[in-house]
Parts: sequence; structure tokens; C-alpha cells
Amino acid sequence: MPAQIINGNLLSQQLRADVARRAAALTAKGRQPGLAVILVGENPASQVYVRNKVKACEDNGIHSVLEKYPADMSEADLLQRIAALNADPKIHGILVQLPLPAHIDSHKVIEAIAAEKDVDGFHISNAGLLMTGQPLFRPCTPYGVMKMLESIDYPVRGAHAVIVGASNIVGKPQAMLLLQAGATITICNSKTRDLGHHTRQADILVVATGKRNIVTADMIKPGAVVIDVGMNRDDNGKLCGDVDYGPASEVAGYITPVPGGVGPMTITMLLVNTLEAAERTL
Ligand code: NAP
Repeated sequence: MPAQIINGNLLSQQLRADVARRAAALTAKGRQPGLAVILVGENPASQVYVRNKVKACEDNGIHSVLEKYPADMSEADLLQRIAALNADPKIHGILVQLPLPAHIDSHKVIEAIAAEKDVDGFHISNAGLLMTGQPLFRPCTPYGVMKMLESIDYPVRGAHAVIVGASNIVGKPQAMLLLQAGATITICNSKTRDLGHHTRQADILVVATGKRNIVTADMIKPGAVVIDVGMNRDDNGKLCGDVDYGPASEVAGYITPVPGGVGPMTITMLLVNTLEAAERTL
């Protein structure tokens, strides 16, 4: 039987309706949630991402400010802008679109964002809070994955979750969230020997490498939940994930498509984090 599809667009619609309702309630109290998005440089993919984030804010009652700067902006100027936004009471979330140009130290920039406005959840104190089980902000992509598992009532507690990819923005926080939900975790990286040996043991398989078709059908345990975070282009330039989707969906129990899976959930959870940052200021 083919896998059931976890539809990120549909789930996002439901969650965004709740965001819009709560944002309107806050606005009525004179506290409209506000997000500032900073883009430095002309990276075409980043331009699309920030446009989508700003539009999602507008559609759901969140005030948004997009600040675009040239690629040669100095690190000092960027830090100054962040300091101003930290002090701006209309702004509850600050997002600096990554990657930044090479002359800017992205760690320094992320640490400059006030932790209580760090809606991406990348600040070191937010990473520490997540690690110790007291998250203030959950990073948006892994948070979205948790909502997808919740949407199918998946019994995460006691399940074996295998995460392929160990980045600070996806793989590692995903592992922490699944661990805190009671799963047993395996994290794989580019040095992992015999990836399939690990993935075949997964009840929940989260793949986030940026390597097209890194997970094929023979690497999936029958009935597993397969969450594909990857975003790649196929030979025809069409968006695709890290999982060989067609054959994999013949083996998995549940699967997320690309596009229409994790991508929209990431933006939705950014809205949720911004909304909750604003709610906390009341
Ligand atoms: P990243 O920083 O490049 O990290 C990739 C991770 O994959 C690294 O930990 C790397 O291992 C691991 N990896 C690479 N080759 C591997 C292999 N052969 N076997 C096992 N692990 C391997 O990427 P990222 O930022 O996490 O993003 C990953 C993918 O998700 C990208 O396609 C990105 O576009 C996509 N993404 C999508 C969303 C969304 O909203 N849908 C959000 C964020 C990211 P090492 O640690 O050993 O280098």
C-alpha cells in the first residue's frame, strides 16, 4: 500500500488560521506582532525565501519589515541595525537570512540578536535552552517536523528516530526535539559508514542533507515515517528533496513530498515563533 502523504500545505493552512486569530487578538490589545527580516546581498534563493516569509506575515496579520542591504555592507553596520531592532518595541522577531556574505561573521551576527527576539532559535542561549529541555524558541524547520508527526498522532515516545544530517539549523535541533519527545535517536553525518544500515532501523526517518536521492527505497523500513527536509533541483530544474520519492512512497507508511511538505511548515513555525514572542511581551 502506498504511503500516506503528510501534506505540509494543508497542515500549514490550519496552523496559520490559528496564528491569524491570535495575531488579531494581540493587535486589538495594541500589540501587533512584528517581524524584521534582514537580507544582505543578492543570493537569488534567499530573495525568494525572504519574500515568502514577508508575504506569509502579511497574510496572517503580522507586521513585517524587510530590510535589504548590498553585499558589501560592513559587519559593523549590520550589528548596528540589529541593535536598533533589538530596541524597537514594534519588532518581536528578528531574522537574518543566511548565508551572509563571507566577510561577515554569521555567529557574531546571530549572537547580536536579543535572545527573546531570536525567532529562528539559532542564538547560542536558545540552542542551550533547547539542549537542556527548556526551549524558548524551537528552530522553525525541526519544530515544523514535530507538528507533522503530531498531525498523524505518531507515537514518538519509544520510537527509533534516525536523522540524516547534523547541521545546527536542522539535524541537531531535530535530534533534541525528538529526544525530548521520548524517541531513541541516531544522528548520521557525511562520515557515517553504511548509511542504509542506520536508516533501515528508523521508525521515523528525517533526511536533511541537501543531497538528492541520498535515501532510496531499499534504505527504508517498511511502514516508517519518512520526513524529507532536503531542497534540491532535479535534472529538469524542478524542486525535489533528498529522498527518492516515488519508490520510497511504496515502502514508507507516511511520507512528506517536496514541494508541499516541510517547506511551508518552516515558514508557518516562523509565524508561530513571532506570535509567541509578541504574546510574551504582554
Ligand atoms: P548543511 O548545513 O549543508 O548540512 C548538511 C548535513 O548533511 C551535514 O551534517 C552533513 O554532514 C550531512 N551530510 C552530507 N552528506 C551526507 C551523507 N552522504 N550522509 C550523511 N550525512 C550527510 O545543510 P542544512 O542547512 O541542514 O540543510 C539540509 C537540506 O535541507 C538542504 O537541502 C536545505 O536546502 C534543506 N532545508 C530545507 C528547509 C525547509 O524549510 N524545507 C529548511 C532548512 C534546510 P557533516 O556534518 O559531516 O558535514
